[in-house]
Amino acid sequence: MSNNLKHIINGKKISGHSKTLFDIFNPATGELIRQMQGASAEDVKLAVESAKEAFPAWSNVPPSKRAQVMFNYRELLLTHVDELATLISEEHGKTLADAKGEVLRGVEVVEFCTAINNHLKSDFTANVSDGIDSYNMRQAMGVCAGITPFNFPAMVPMWMYPVAIACGNTFVLKLSEKDPSCGLRLTELIEEAGLPAGVLNTVVGDKEAVDEILHNPDISAVSFVGSTAVGEYIYQEGSKHNKRVQALCGAKNHMIVMPDASMDQACDAIIGAAYGSAGERCMAVSVVVTIGDETADRLIEQLEPMVRALKIGKFDDEGVEMGPVISQESKDRILTYIEQGQAQGAVLKIDGRGEVAREGYFVGGCVFDKVTPDMSIYTDEIFGPVLSIVRVASYAEALELIDAHEYGNGATIFTRDGDTARHFAMNVQVGMAGINVPIPVPVAMHSFGGWKRSLFGSTSIHGMEGVRFYTRLKTVTTRWPSGIREGAQFHFESGKDAS
Ligand code: NAD
Repeated sequence: MSNNLKHIINGKKISGHSKTLFDIFNPATGELIRQMQGASAEDVKLAVESAKEAFPAWSNVPPSKRAQVMFNYRELLLTHVDELATLISEEHGKTLADAKGEVLRGVEVVEFCTAINNHLKSDFTANVSDGIDSYNMRQAMGVCAGITPFNFPAMVPMWMYPVAIACGNTFVLKLSEKDPSCGLRLTELIEEAGLPAGVLNTVVGDKEAVDEILHNPDISAVSFVGSTAVGEYIYQEGSKHNKRVQALCGAKNHMIVMPDASMDQACDAIIGAAYGSAGERCMAVSVVVTIGDETADRLIEQLEPMVRALKIGKFDDEGVEMGPVISQESKDRILTYIEQGQAQGAVLKIDGRGEVAREGYFVGGCVFDKVTPDMSIYTDEIFGPVLSIVRVASYAEALELIDAHEYGNGATIFTRDGDTARHFAMNVQVGMAGINVPIPVPVAMHSFGGWKRSLFGSTSIHGMEGVRFYTRLKTVTTRWPSGIREGAQFHFESGKDAS
């Protein structure tokens, strides 16, 4: 066990000064593998000062040169992908293939940022009035900050800082204290790629560090990804302190299975989306809504042996498909939900609690049938490998269920019918909709974000929404001395004749 993780501020590795020493475990064994002294409010202040100092020079670097750092970074990330994936798996528990997949999803955001000069290209209108031209520019906000969750320790930070930095901002990144090693290594690599010291400052801390970010007057914008309870606080507190805030939060993603769906496709999709990463994904499918009892029975018959056959184990075990959950606390929470589901009358078709006896934080794949909307396993985000099947009589009823849920991150439908699929896409009340795909996670050039209590703020993350979030619009109107002299004007100029 080593206690050598350090915060990275102004290009230097620095020990934290908060009173909290974070224990970092290997969730597959429960072994304490690393420790890290958390960042205090003073440490975060230092990170903000460093970012503030770096801002004038960095924001004046031409976008094409900022893009060059992103090209170099992309190459380094690809060279180090195995090392990064191992760091994620050791601390998070997800399989190596899954960890590699998340790094590569992050690389796609970096690739989007290599074209930042194109994304920042703006509008110009010649001669808006006699001799007057007008143009827009999108300028960097200043110091931005990101607060990230444990479940994607590489991809979610990379949803944020590459876009912010490519737009000319400097950044303070506050990683999750549960699995910070990969995020710290990502920071070292971007500096190796040519990013000047102080442009990205990475700290690991808890509420003390977060509150400093929310209150510090030198931070202009805050991106948060995590649970709804914390996200709502961050949105309200950050907005109160006049920051632009986007808070992407919890989810309960539904999959509708229509009677005409390909059951093979639907079951394959459920296995990956409900049990991949042990269900610890904000885009996990945690509810399957079947239309008609016959559809439900067919689905369960086909799904049951697949769930029972899931290969559960340590991230680098041969053929492993699902790892442990992040912590003993998470495991206990999931077990409590399973007990509640049974007590509230759902039918536990597959009980994954047989895996609980292993060392580490394992819970096997569970399936509940005959779940109703009043049960806590339906209303709450469990964030574990527990799938609920809700039986309804019609598509309209299924859509009403999704619309009534407090979360609105993603939803998907499996059907062969184009009319139903189109109606679903047009009417479902979520931010990300899928048709015959398991997890409708938008790729890097599109943007990611939910509706309702899955996102506070008005802007989704990465893609062009990300560019808009990390920049502000300026419109410039110009006239030159050779233009027509009109004398003093006491009314607004307009193209129309006011007389
Ligand atoms: P979390 O809310 O516990 O933690 C997220 C971040 O907030 C961490 O950096 C943590 O240190 C900090 N934090 C925790 N408690 C805090 C407090 N009281 N005050 C201030 N800061 C605090 O979330 P988590 O458990 O790390 O991640 C899982 C959650 O994230 C799930 O709800 C999941 O749905 C959500 N998530 C959402 C998305 C999305 O895009 N919508 C993506 C990934 C994860």
